[in-house]
Amino acid sequence: VAKRLEKFKTTIFTQMSMLAIKHGAINLGQGFPNFDGPDFVKEAAIQGIKEGKNQYARGYGVPDLNSAVAARFKKDSGLEVDPENEVTVTSGCTEAIAATILGLINPGDEVILFAPFYDSYEATLSMAGAKIKGITLRPPDFSLPIDELKSAVSKSTRAILLNTPHNPTGKMFTREELNVIASLCIENDILVFADEVYDKLAFEMEHISIASLPGMYERTVTMNSLGKTFSLTGWKIGWAIAPPHLTWGVRQAHSYLTFATSTPMQYAAATALRAPDSYYEELKRDYSAKKAILVEGLKAAGFTVYPSSGTYFVVVDHTPFGLENDIAFCEYLIKEIGVVAIPTSVFYLNPEEGKNLVRFTFCKDDDTLKSAVQRMKEKL
Ligand code: GLN
Repeated sequence: VAKRLEKFKTTIFTQMSMLAIKHGAINLGQGFPNFDGPDFVKEAAIQGIKEGKNQYARGYGVPDLNSAVAARFKKDSGLEVDPENEVTVTSGCTEAIAATILGLINPGDEVILFAPFYDSYEATLSMAGAKIKGITLRPPDFSLPIDELKSAVSKSTRAILLNTPHNPTGKMFTREELNVIASLCIENDILVFADEVYDKLAFEMEHISIASLPGMYERTVTMNSLGKTFSLTGWKIGWAIAPPHLTWGVRQAHSYLTFATSTPMQYAAATALRAPDSYYEELKRDYSAKKAILVEGLKAAGFTVYPSSGTYFVVVDHTPFGLENDIAFCEYLIKEIGVVAIPTSVFYLNPEEGKNLVRFTFCKDDDTLKSAVQRMKEKL
């Protein structure tokens, strides 16, 4: 394997899902729903295939999807963007992240990350030869350590990678925190790469796109996807929204990474994004109920559960159970209790910082959540 990827192992999500199958454990690890996406979206994909929408799509997205993305973004953030010059469709948000980093970051540029972070950020920054600076968000509330952020900024800082609502903690950045980040970026000419894939799973507060703050649109790439909102994580449809001068970089990288994304699925994605408000309300209602089952259950089982405002994840402190670290705890949980969680130490530059924390997901049907909770309450 090339040196730039030497330190990375099989992703923790793959490792844990394989262990779940091997031990017949209930998988509350990898964030994928065990229920299906909506029929009207699946029907649209089938129709697209039958209608012969099966050759390469336009590289930066089929016009219908670019327009649907722009319309949805206007509704959510109030920003009016040009679907032809400011929206790029990618193969999932993970590709949007890669295209953004590879298209806009030079070797040696510094990029600031908030730990714990989704694992692809570090690997992709490493592929781009970026210098990574981590700022750790700490329990119980994972709030932004403003002074640490200020002192991390230097002349070589090119970008801040922001994820809100935040995987794995469920933290949502407040308007005050986003204002601090925004003024630092404006003063120091720094870009923001904002991964907002969980924006429709915002339970305790309103999601704010940093691009909508004054002076920020021109320096922000906002990334999102279909997977979480429509329970179709396997479709791998994502996008990046950015002003033309940044979109150019994103599109150049995208052209040579994947060239284009699955054509019929893009048409179906456009249909999905035009879902009525009631779809989004129901999604949130369903997930709130699931969240309550998991959070109450974890508390009853004896965990310290940290508050999660958004995403379909919660992070807990496992130390009441006396295992030495997060990996040992997750192994014990799989083998002895029959439940899979994700150890968080892999989401830190310094793994020690995550050793007390594990992540559970509630994107599972209610019976699965109840059985997992039951096992933990009885056996832990
Ligand atoms: N984003 C999902 C999670 O955090 C899974 C992503 C993946 O499997 N690579 O669980």
